[in-house]
Amino acid sequence: MKALVLHAVADVRYEDMPVPEPKADEVLVRVAYCGVCGSDIPRIFSKGTYRFPLICGHEFAGVVERCGEGVVRFAPGDRVAVFPLIWCGRCAACEKGKYVQCESYDYLGSRRDGAFAEYVVAPVRNLLRVPDGVSLQEAAMTEPAAVALHALRRAGGCQPGETVAIFGAGPIGLIAAQWARAMGASPVVLFDIVEEKLAMAKGLGFVHAYHAAHHTPEEVVASLTEGQGAHVCLEAAGVPQTLLQACACARRSGRVVVLGNPSADVTFPANLLSQLMRREVNLYGTWNSEYAVYSADDDWHTTLQAVASGQLNLKPLITHRVPLSRAIQTLHAMREGKGFFCKVLIHPDEQEED
Ligand SMILES: [Zn+2]
Ligand SMILES: [Zn+2]
Repeated sequence: MKALVLHAVADVRYEDMPVPEPKADEVLVRVAYCGVCGSDIPRIFSKGTYRFPLICGHEFAGVVERCGEGVVRFAPGDRVAVFPLIWCGRCAACEKGKYVQCESYDYLGSRRDGAFAEYVVAPVRNLLRVPDGVSLQEAAMTEPAAVALHALRRAGGCQPGETVAIFGAGPIGLIAAQWARAMGASPVVLFDIVEEKLAMAKGLGFVHAYHAAHHTPEEVVASLTEGQGAHVCLEAAGVPQTLLQACACARRSGRVVVLGNPSADVTFPANLLSQLMRREVNLYGTWNSEYAVYSADDDWHTTLQAVASGQLNLKPLITHRVPLSRAIQTLHAMREGKGFFCKVLIHPDEQEED
């Protein structure tokens, strides 16, 4: 099969690899689409990963090609999304079903081979059926959508009428805004410094999308909340300044969620720290998403249902669909910031499915 193989930091090659064999309780999935995550760019070009060679790609959906021994819940031809975290099942977190906190997990696309390839092997317990009416392109975005939902749920979700401010209008910020709206939050305010992202937010119906260099977020949020501040502030850019802004915009007893992967150290001014203390602001870390094999209310099943019902509109976020054979060029362009990219989906060259 063809795959993008990472041999060392910044050494990614499009080459032939053997099709992996599904062992017992594993499934071979023919990849339809695999999204490029913000984390893939440093993984490929600067930070590297846990082992080389490695096939990256953890946001994907496809069709079951072949089942290993003992697999009964899925059959060839089934359309599936795949939770990329492979939990150990032998630690306290796993015992509670908190797979995201597993003490010795494996991960498709960063620790073992992922889906920038024609085929990928995954444990059957990591597979979800894609509902009718949900395309495989949308299903490939289940992971970032579940991450966005998890971030809001970490802060207790949002109540109808609550103000939610989102700092960073990349794919996850834009999806989080849709979740907030679906939960009844109003207004939902977005900030970014890239015009195209703000235009995309407006295209999704978010009238309160502001350029953070031209409008001071604190003033915007204050003017929309009679000076009270936002109930929920979501930092989704990983930039020091946006974390400070998120904290500054939180109202008394407000909730701040730290979601963006940090790009640098953050220095808190003493008066902002003091404000956080006096306002008794709650700070939440969030990581990945919650997944359950059989329940329906975990982040993953909830996401697929929300896409099926039209509550989540993921298609407009797709700016690029790139065949595997040309994906390396696109990854370079993303790293260099050449052009505007929201969600980029990579697909095998011979791709027929929607
Ligand atoms: Zn990711
Ligand atoms: Zn575990």
